Formats: sequence, C-alpha cells, structure tokens
Amino acid sequence: MITCDELRLKDKIDTFATFGALDNGGITRLSLSPAALAARDEFCKRCRTLGMEIKTDDMANIYATLKGDENLPAIMMGSHMDSVVQGGNYDGILGVLTALEAAETIVAERIPHRHPITVVVWTNEEGARFDPAMMSSGVIAGKFDKKLMLESKDKEGTTFGEALEASGYMGDIKNRLNRKDYMALVELHVEQGPVLEAEEKDIGIVEGVVGMVNYEFTFIGQADHAGTTPMKYRKDALFAAANVIRYLHDELDKLDSNLVYTTGRMNVSPNIHTIIPDYVKFTLDARHQDSKVINQVVEIIKSVPNEVDRCSVSCKELWSRKTVAFCEEFVDFVEKNTNEYGYSSMRMYSGPGHDAQFIADIIPTTMIFVPSQNGHSHCEKEFTPLENCFKGANVLLQTILDIDKK
Ligand SMILES: [Zn+2]
Repeated sequence: MITCDELRLKDKIDTFATFGALDNGGITRLSLSPAALAARDEFCKRCRTLGMEIKTDDMANIYATLKGDENLPAIMMGSHMDSVVQGGNYDGILGVLTALEAAETIVAERIPHRHPITVVVWTNEEGARFDPAMMSSGVIAGKFDKKLMLESKDKEGTTFGEALEASGYMGDIKNRLNRKDYMALVELHVEQGPVLEAEEKDIGIVEGVVGMVNYEFTFIGQADHAGTTPMKYRKDALFAAANVIRYLHDELDKLDSNLVYTTGRMNVSPNIHTIIPDYVKFTLDARHQDSKVINQVVEIIKSVPNEVDRCSVSCKELWSRKTVAFCEEFVDFVEKNTNEYGYSSMRMYSGPGHDAQFIADIIPTTMIFVPSQNGHSHCEKEFTPLENCFKGANVLLQTILDIDKK
C-alpha cells in the first residue's frame, strides 16, 4: 500500500514546533498572533511549492488545493494551527501537517485523483485568545453569528475583527460551506486522552463527538463569624455544595460507565478563612454519546432539592451540545484502511469538541485519532511518537483516496 514519507513528516513537525516555541518544549501560538502568522506563512510557502492554489475566506480559514482531474467538489482534510497558552506540538497542528504530508505524497507519487484535494486550516479553534472555541468553522457552518465573533476581544482589548484585518489572511470568499464546493472532510487529531495508549491501539476510529451538558449550581447561605456561630445555626454554603457534589457523584456513578463528568470550577465567597462562606457556585460538565444517558444526568441534576443544609440551591444550564455522528461510510473507510496497513485500532467517540463536529452538519465528515502519550494534552508535555503520527498520516491519505474513488 502507498505510504507517506516518515522523515518528511518529522521535518514538518520539527519545523512547525519552532513557531511559538517555549523553553520546555511546548508552544504558545495563540490565534493570529505573530507566531501563528509565521506558521501560516510557512504552511502557505510549502503548499505553493507543491503547486497548490491558496485561498482564504473572510474568517481567514486557509484552503490550499491540489487540482483534481475532473470538475468536482473538493475533498478537505486538515485541522487548526493555533494553540492554548503553554500548549503542545500536536493538538491541531498534527492534523494540518499529516494532511500536508498526504498532499505532498500525492504530488510526489503522482497519484491520480478525480476531486480537488484541499488542505484546510481553521482559524481560532482553541478560543484561547478570542472566545469562543471553534469560532471560524462555527461561522462558516452557520453556528455562530459573524458580527458577534468579530467583536470578541482578547486580554489586551484587541477585537477578533481587528486581528483578522491586520493578519493579511482575511480573504473575500463569503459563500458559506456547502456541498457544491466540498464533498468531504477528514480531520486527524491527537486523542487528548489516555485510552488509545492504555489499550495499545495505533488508531482511534472516531464515530462521533459526544453530547454534553454544562450546569451551574448556586448556593446561598449566611456569612457569619467563624468563632462565634455554633455549628447548628450555620448556613454554610460551601458545606452544602460539598454535600451536593458528593450526592451527584454517587448518583451519576450509577449510570453508564462511559459517562464522564466534572465539577471543574468553583467560586467561594467571601473566601476568607475566618468567615462562614455564604455564596458558592460550581459547574457540572457531563458527556456521553447517548442522549438518553444525558437526559438521565439532567434528571439527577434536577433532583437536587432547592434547600440543602439550610442554604438555598438553584441551578441553570450554561450550555449543551448534542452528540454528532460522523459519516458511517467514511468511518468504515478508516477502519478498513487501518486493517489493511496492519495497524491496531478501536472505535471511539471524541470527548473534546473539534471543528469537524460543526462541519459534519453540512458535509460528510469523519476524524482519525492517534494516541497521546500519558493522555496529556493542552500542556507542554503533549506528545505523540513519530511512528504513530506516520501511521495516522497513512490512514488519512488512503481514506482521502477512497473517498475520491466513490
Ligand atoms: Zn485541537
């Protein structure tokens, strides 16, 4: 079977690791920052060398295209190049670089293809500089209002719109994503979790992105003196919150073993060691592929009484998303190719969100996961061995070629 070039892929990974490089091996490459723009310049330079035509849309998403033999909609592959603060060298960028390597292999090996093949770079996936995450894929898929997005500000007060104008990457394509122009997207990404490595699998065949709910609980008690108020008179909002967290864990653990949930943020007020806390908020994030299980989670959340330990309790949904199922035919292609290369694999759902989940609403889409060492991601320790990156690139290449033939 045709394969990519492992050393050429290594060169790409090593080169792009220099854009925004930090002392400890990671990167900070915030969206449209000088480091991100330098990475974009290098990407475009390499694409032009391969004879690809480069276009950008009005959200600065980049589309680098190899002409096809026939006048047909293009097949897309790619991901994002921006990172979180002190992020790693694999999240997002590996999806771009394996796509670039697959395109380079098609050119070098003169592999005929009917459809144009486009390597795509999505702008501001992380949302680390401009909220929200997956901003530009969201705009072109009709999920976010562009005007609102342009007003999103970074910490310095620069708006996304200003950064976009200054980037030199704002193009004029304003047609929103449609099936006339594009017929498929395949996004390779690092797993960002420990499962593939623990199960000793080379490739994750991603069936979809799990649905989730995010709720916020608020507890109101009474702030009193820590030395004078007897325990039985207290309205301790933190104690009430702790009991509710315990209750939620006990009940949620009775549901499906694939359910994951997190109480990730807590605010305690007044947060002074001599005062009984009177105001506590915490969030509960829960994820599962089956909407029935998510509905059970919501029932458990709603079963929390509105008074606990003499404190009042309320909760509200901050946001939610439905499970996204990827194109079954493409998922099967990924599985077939993984088997034909002799790589080990497992089917799985993505816990994190990805650009592909928005695109999947408009055009047939799938994802390929490769292992993350020790499950680390969004940190400088993020690492995927070259061998795994190479295997992922091969499966990506062959999947694109299969889609081209259909
Ligand atoms: Zn990512």
